[in-house]
Amino acid sequence: MSTSSRTHKALLLPFPCGILLATYVAGIALLSNALATEVSAAAQEGATRMAVYYPNTEPLGANEMRVIALGTGTPNFRRSQASASWLVELGNGEKFIFDIGTGSLANLGALEIPFTQLNKVFISHLHVDHIGDLDAMFIGGWVSNRTVPLRIWGPSGKKPEHGTKYAVDRMREMFTWDLTGRRGNMPSQGGHLETTEFDYSKSHVVYEQNGVKIRAWPAVHGIDGAVSYSLEWNGRKFVYSGDTVPNKWFLAEAEKADILIHECYLTVQQFIELKNYDPERARIVATIIHTPPQLCGKIFSTLKPQMAVAYHTFNDFNVTPDTLAAIRETYDGPLTIADDLLVWNIDDDGVQVRTVIGNDEAFPAPPPEPAGPPDPSERTERSKWLDAGRIDFSN
Ligand SMILES: [Zn+2]
Ligand SMILES: [Zn+2]
Repeated sequence: MSTSSRTHKALLLPFPCGILLATYVAGIALLSNALATEVSAAAQEGATRMAVYYPNTEPLGANEMRVIALGTGTPNFRRSQASASWLVELGNGEKFIFDIGTGSLANLGALEIPFTQLNKVFISHLHVDHIGDLDAMFIGGWVSNRTVPLRIWGPSGKKPEHGTKYAVDRMREMFTWDLTGRRGNMPSQGGHLETTEFDYSKSHVVYEQNGVKIRAWPAVHGIDGAVSYSLEWNGRKFVYSGDTVPNKWFLAEAEKADILIHECYLTVQQFIELKNYDPERARIVATIIHTPPQLCGKIFSTLKPQMAVAYHTFNDFNVTPDTLAAIRETYDGPLTIADDLLVWNIDDDGVQVRTVIGNDEAFPAPPPEPAGPPDPSERTERSKWLDAGRIDFSN
């Protein structure tokens, strides 16, 4: 597989040029002309892609993978950066979501993809910044025309109550009032969940269908019950760390990735200076629970992916330069500092990184097949006394 691509050439430039270009990739507009120039050159070679990605304007090639960042931040939710979520689209038409952190669903909605095609979600672990929008995905997705059950895969824990099934079942219980009111007034299938919980402690295949193979393996993060994932299809390989410190399972499983997404949180010093953590708390979070940038770079330089992607930090003017410099202490290969609504196209020509221009005022796309009518037998009627209080203004 070729490692040449327009973006690669740009990102392979040595530090400090690397800082400038990866900062561009992080979405800072200052250098946007650089990529425009690159893409203009490509256009002259006959390529038809624009400098940015407008959703639903580019059919994928039969052998192509597209990855879109729906959330790249942390549990400190902010309008500029949602919490963790990734969409993987394949040339065979299939779509997979990895994590669904707080705020990410608005970015997903901006892509105007029918929700019926977005019914496979793989959870890396049960921290709120990785599942915070699962409720919106479940019920908001149903309201937004999903006509099939939402399917969720996720790890077990050391105890049943630390597992994905426990969390998803209680989420559904939390919305008992909501679900009871909708059933019988909406086509029912989209209002169902199917949860597959798998053993967090093994490296194994957790999904295999239509030539798509998804593996999970233990991640070392918080308590027992976090995993990392790979998705392999048609010779392409996507790897997603979830949250983890560097570990032996990751090094064994994440080789030969086309795109390798790894968490990269703040340094100990940044936790102290930017978040007012005391030194001991900063040390624990930065080095025992998460991966600091220097070690993230070490993961990348050891595994040598076609494109390395660092996420799970703050893309701010006073953070990104230090993050990038720290990664560059240990890694000088192709790199993206992830930001929300960046898109990576992966095909035989390599990896191309661009910005997505989504629709902030998107309405839900219609389902590919019309949904049937609601089943009135599922309906829970209001109390007669309450209904009798309605005022009829029709006359
Ligand atoms: Zn976490
Ligand atoms: Zn996290």
